[in-house]
Amino acid sequence: MASKSAIVIGSGVAGLSTASYLGQNGYEVTIIEKNSQAGGRARQFSQDGFVFDMGPSWYWMPDVFEKFYADFGHKASDFYELKRLDPSYRVYDKQGKAVDIPADMEQLEALFEKYEKGSSLKLRQFLKEAAYKYEVGINDLVYKPGLSLLEFADLRLLKGLLKMDVLTSMRSHVQSFIKDPILQELLEFPILFLGALPENTPALYSLMNYADMSLGTWYPMGGMFKIVEAFVAIAKEQGVKIELETEAKSIIIENGKAVGVETNKGKFLADVIIGAGDYHHIETKLLEPAYQQYSKSYWDSRKMAPSCLLFYIGLNKKLKGMKHHTLFFDTDFGVHSGEIYTNPQWPSKPLFYTSAPSVTDPSVAPEGKENLFLLIPVAPGLGGDVESTREKYLDMMLERMEEKLGEKIKEHIIYKRSYSISNFIDDYHAFKGNAYGLANTLSQTAILKPRLRSKKVKSLYFSGQLTVPGPGVPPGIISGKVCALQILKDAKTN
Ligand SMILES: Cc1cc2nc3c(=O)[nH]c(=O)nc-3n(C[C@H](O)[C@H](O)[C@H](O)COP(=O)(O)OP(=O)(O)OC[C@H]3O[C@@H](n4cnc5c(N)ncnc54)[C@H](O)[C@@H]3O)c2cc1C
Repeated sequence: MASKSAIVIGSGVAGLSTASYLGQNGYEVTIIEKNSQAGGRARQFSQDGFVFDMGPSWYWMPDVFEKFYADFGHKASDFYELKRLDPSYRVYDKQGKAVDIPADMEQLEALFEKYEKGSSLKLRQFLKEAAYKYEVGINDLVYKPGLSLLEFADLRLLKGLLKMDVLTSMRSHVQSFIKDPILQELLEFPILFLGALPENTPALYSLMNYADMSLGTWYPMGGMFKIVEAFVAIAKEQGVKIELETEAKSIIIENGKAVGVETNKGKFLADVIIGAGDYHHIETKLLEPAYQQYSKSYWDSRKMAPSCLLFYIGLNKKLKGMKHHTLFFDTDFGVHSGEIYTNPQWPSKPLFYTSAPSVTDPSVAPEGKENLFLLIPVAPGLGGDVESTREKYLDMMLERMEEKLGEKIKEHIIYKRSYSISNFIDDYHAFKGNAYGLANTLSQTAILKPRLRSKKVKSLYFSGQLTVPGPGVPPGIISGKVCALQILKDAKTN
């Protein structure tokens, strides 16, 4: 039988993962990527001796990466050295006090006891339940393609689902264990990765606390882009071709079946097409309306995860006492979250996050210098994303950093680049300039997400952060696998 061929639109982690699994199963795969570098939101750039990861900075769920590598006969250590960070991260609380989250569980329990007597035992129980959710969630639920409710009908899963707190909110779940507001905030923090608020996120996602506190925060030496380099190497081992600076302009359909892609570099034909770029863009810009599954009102009513305002900064000195990851939660999150979700506007006094990988990794900054990544979550789709707005926020962040660290920062900046909503749109065709796709609310989970197989066009599939299972690098890896397995399964029955 002649081998089958596939075109994957987009070389983010999801596209690379989909392509590798299809390649492994005998498909001739070509990835077409509009940008000049593979990796999508996880790209990297270098300037003046600084090496900046453009998107992800938290390496969580190392087991998901290892599973991916093992599927191709590899280990993470074939590609990079992983370091567990300790402290995992620092948080500045509302009073401006620094709280370091230790990697060691005994020390973490001692920290909880300092804030609330008896809370260490509650934390133990909380994490035990979270471990169960992680086991069922990450090993079973996220591998469901989300095409039918019947996928969830096997007994083990049904029994599991009852213990998964799908109908309780993360906020009330945390509050049922812990009373101290600072500890509550610590336990709610990982939910921010899912792009939704703790009151709107099912407590199923306390599995993220297990990922945070039990599995730990890691860092690949050389930067997060090492992941992309590893994925590209694996894809190539599986015979995948990657065409950079090649932009899909439309999907070619014949007799209701996707048969190819029209690009700025000509036509590419294949048996299967996978849209692994932003789902909204693939549907609304690459397909005629008759072939689109979702209406404008569907997209308008989706709850998007936030976009963000980012700064990549090089300093001409090291910062004393700087941690690899720091969360500036020294303002009222209620106000900031209202400015993201309820009444979208540029935030008045935002929370923000800093990463300083040069604290751990000397290779990402020249000797004696610091590499900083600053991030403020903002509502997607905001107007007024201009340099003067961005600068105002940079000053705000630097002022708060200078106050907390007790040293001058602004006058030591020797490299600076900002990145926000308009860049997400230009670089990735991101719907409303979103950074992390759709928010993981209950009404946007599993079968309620945009489908990974088109209902209207045969042989057209999707992977990536807007379809199952959701945003983040580990879910992107899983999305690629689930999509590829579905294609292989469908190929057997067609
Ligand atoms: C600032 C930021 C911080 C983050 N932090 C973390 C973190 O710490 N940890 C974590 O796990 N996750 C993090 N994430 C989320 C994670 O990076 C993403 O969920 C994941 O990388 C998305 O992968 P993807 O393959 O779905 O999409 P993308 O990475 O967006 O890849 C899609 C690709 O498709 C290409 N494309 C789009 N349209 C076309 C077209 N018409 N033709 C050709 N190519 C096209 C794009 O150029 C892009 O390369 C972060 C994201 C951002 C933005």
